[in-house]
Amino acid sequence: MDILSVASEVFPLVKTGGLADVAGALPLALKPQGVRMRTLLPGYPAVLSKIGDAEAVAHFGNLFGHPARILAAGHAGLDLLVLDAPALFNRPGGPYVDPAGKDFPDNFRRFSALSLAAAEIAGGVLGTWRPDLVHAHDWQAALAPVHMRFGPARGTPSVLTVHNIAFQGQFGRDVFPELALPPEAFSVDLVEYYGDVSFLKGGMQAASAITTVSPTYAREILTPEFGMGLEGLLAARIRDLSGIVNGIDTDVWNPAADPHLAATYGLPDLAGRAANRRAVEARFGLESGDGPIFCIISRLTWQKGMDLVAEVIPDIVAGGARLAILGSGDADLEDRLLLAAGRNQGRIGMVRGYDEPLSHLMQAGSDAILIPSRFEPCGLTQLYGLRYGCVPVVGRTGGLADTVIDANEAALTAGVATGFQFSPVTADSLRLAIDRAIAAFRDPALWSSLQARGMASDVSWERSAGRYAALYSRLLSKGAFL
Ligand code: ADP
Repeated sequence: MDILSVASEVFPLVKTGGLADVAGALPLALKPQGVRMRTLLPGYPAVLSKIGDAEAVAHFGNLFGHPARILAAGHAGLDLLVLDAPALFNRPGGPYVDPAGKDFPDNFRRFSALSLAAAEIAGGVLGTWRPDLVHAHDWQAALAPVHMRFGPARGTPSVLTVHNIAFQGQFGRDVFPELALPPEAFSVDLVEYYGDVSFLKGGMQAASAITTVSPTYAREILTPEFGMGLEGLLAARIRDLSGIVNGIDTDVWNPAADPHLAATYGLPDLAGRAANRRAVEARFGLESGDGPIFCIISRLTWQKGMDLVAEVIPDIVAGGARLAILGSGDADLEDRLLLAAGRNQGRIGMVRGYDEPLSHLMQAGSDAILIPSRFEPCGLTQLYGLRYGCVPVVGRTGGLADTVIDANEAALTAGVATGFQFSPVTADSLRLAIDRAIAAFRDPALWSSLQARGMASDVSWERSAGRYAALYSRLLSKGAFL
């Protein structure tokens, strides 16, 4: 099978969140399944500088008013197609925001262009290579199935993966004439959404199948609480909706060979964790102590429950535990956590910002990772935690519910527990989960068994890649799509 994956960020070229990890890891995991996946992504400056010399394999005289090219390049085992459209992508800032952190005003044009380029590739613009199926990720690529409806790729099946339904790519209807779609696309069956334009909704209507990144999240988004307005549409497409949990890149995230650690380690001997623990203490200004070190590696937002963390900080301190926080996000949450760190020096430490190497060290040197998300489509940091013996303490939602086994009596008796879950996601129930984790930490045999089981659990892409490959074959065997 030849698949074109379309994503606005791909690790290790450009990353703001879990989407990049998935888009970067899935193609490699699919290779042994006999699936060739090529990945289309925008030519941001960071991407162009990393791919170096690349071959132009297609030219567009006029893509949204400017010339553009598709470059073919290999990088880190990935087979890339880069949309080199300087007027749209070659500018300072992040993938979606300017250097001041504001959304680019032309994001609708930028990502309609990415989607249109995908549809052109599916339609045969490369000449020598044409995918059997297009796999689009999130709202930024969601118009690919829509553009495909109106061109030579009309019969090519497509999959849309929703990594977070909270981000829908919604714009005023005035942008519609600038999306390069025919007028009939502005209909309730495609991109029209309460009089506005919604990229994600259009993709969900046009794609042959919709996936999300865990079975629990697939069920949750059918409800008004989690569906963010799209639950009705999803219910209508329930037969085409499924959830496939993410894996992680077990080479990049391997405590036995991780270059970012103070000391490497692996089962059955976790002695190397001690040096990493000391490095975390030093980096976060934590006093030594006999209680556990909790860590947080996260966007600091309401979704991630960071306001709840701010509420329970006194309890963490009172319980004799310490907390290392790495993250950035909403200014008020950053301020609250920084203030709490300032007030509890030696017990709570915080590094504001995004630091990939430090995130590895924290998984290797902290005892437990706190993930009190209110919703979490899949979540990756709990999977890294499992792999590194950093016991996850998670809200029971989405992928967190599907990947961590709570240390309740039944699970302990059966010898299968890997962490702690709590529900509902409130400050009180987080407090109780933290107390349970602190108590378990004070029982070394129990704690070691939680760590060892987590480290031995399969968090690789293998099984999930098999599920994607099965979905692709099912869609291809269904024949032509209209
Ligand atoms: P989301 O995509 O919703 O932010 P995920 O758990 O799916 O959440 O993925 C987050 C990814 O970003 C993980 O790889 C995590 O390690 C990483 N990450 C988040 N915040 C930081 C940070 N401040 N520094 C380094 N890595 C971070």
